[in-house]
Amino acid sequence: MPSTTARRLPKTPSPDAGPDVRRVRQRLLKWYDAHHRRLPWRAEPGVAPKPYRVLVSEAMLQQTQVATVVPYFGRFMDALPTVRDLAGADEQAVLRLWQGLGYYRRARSLHAAAKVIVCDHGGVIPDNVADLLKLPGVGRYSAGAIASIAYGTRAPILDGNVARVLARLTLIEQPIDAPDTRKTLWRLAEELVPASRPGDFNQALMELGALICTKANPTCDACPLSGQCQARVVDRVASVPVPAKRKAPTLVHHHVIVMERAGRFLFEQRPATGLWANMWQLPTAEDLPAKANTSELSAWAADRSGLVLSDTQHVVAFTHQTTHRTIRFNVWHGLVTSGRLRRGAGRWRRLDQLNDLPLANPQRKAVAVLIKEDPQQHG
Ligand code: SF4
Repeated sequence: MPSTTARRLPKTPSPDAGPDVRRVRQRLLKWYDAHHRRLPWRAEPGVAPKPYRVLVSEAMLQQTQVATVVPYFGRFMDALPTVRDLAGADEQAVLRLWQGLGYYRRARSLHAAAKVIVCDHGGVIPDNVADLLKLPGVGRYSAGAIASIAYGTRAPILDGNVARVLARLTLIEQPIDAPDTRKTLWRLAEELVPASRPGDFNQALMELGALICTKANPTCDACPLSGQCQARVVDRVASVPVPAKRKAPTLVHHHVIVMERAGRFLFEQRPATGLWANMWQLPTAEDLPAKANTSELSAWAADRSGLVLSDTQHVVAFTHQTTHRTIRFNVWHGLVTSGRLRRGAGRWRRLDQLNDLPLANPQRKAVAVLIKEDPQQHG
């Protein structure tokens, strides 16, 4: 272990960081054994983890809370219990299983990764970081997590929880996402992960960040690393980690135009690339002004679908936040009075017959509002 990082680890009388690294490992693993949560993708002690379950759970857990993932994971495993089942599934079926979980690119990448695993690896998920990194959607964090948790390969991980714990443990006071900080944190994670039980150690770091060393109000008194934590020693836990400098999200306006004919509604598929790729939606104009009027909306709808609307009215507005955008949704409703649906312009559905169309969260919200507004007409 390089002495520069080693010296930054625990605050102890000894300049030799070796014993301190050992202490971090020992304390963390002991705490993990006693306190870790039983989760459906985690193997019980003494039982070998199933790599496919690790692969799927790691994809679902990116940017998503454990409690949100649990029911999705169960449904996904019931529907697609093996990597071969996933590889052979229709993409729309995979997106439907993911519907509501958000960040749908993860689902498409996981699906593509399963195909590569079946085609190039005989259906066996790779056990090393280099091969895992070649899979679609698998970055350094996921590769380390899968290799260490599923196979016991000594590989580090660094996600938001781990970065926070390590920044506090070693008192890193530079912005958490600065390239130099990331390099330091990765190096530290690499040095800390033990050869024995690397998967448990990595999960312990994540678990500590999720349960004890939380962003606000960490419970340092219950922390197994409190005696080693430099931020605690100098009373700067509240100011570490230093937040990333982010650009303010761009505000954009989407107009959802609910086109109704005889109790059925038009749905269209999004393009194969970009936000919510290949998912379905009520016809949505993304290039009209924020204050578009009903004439502009009707003209857009006619141009898009070949159908003529009348009595177009505003139904509801709401805001949806993505990583880089604040999207203001305005939902409008109009009755189709004439025209013929253009080939490929969409499909008609009743609002209670949408099981075959994966919808992103704001579209589900728009549908829910329509059903609530007039259950007799729309339900
Ligand atoms: S002592 Fe507090 S700040 Fe330090 S690692 Fe533990 S919970 Fe986090």
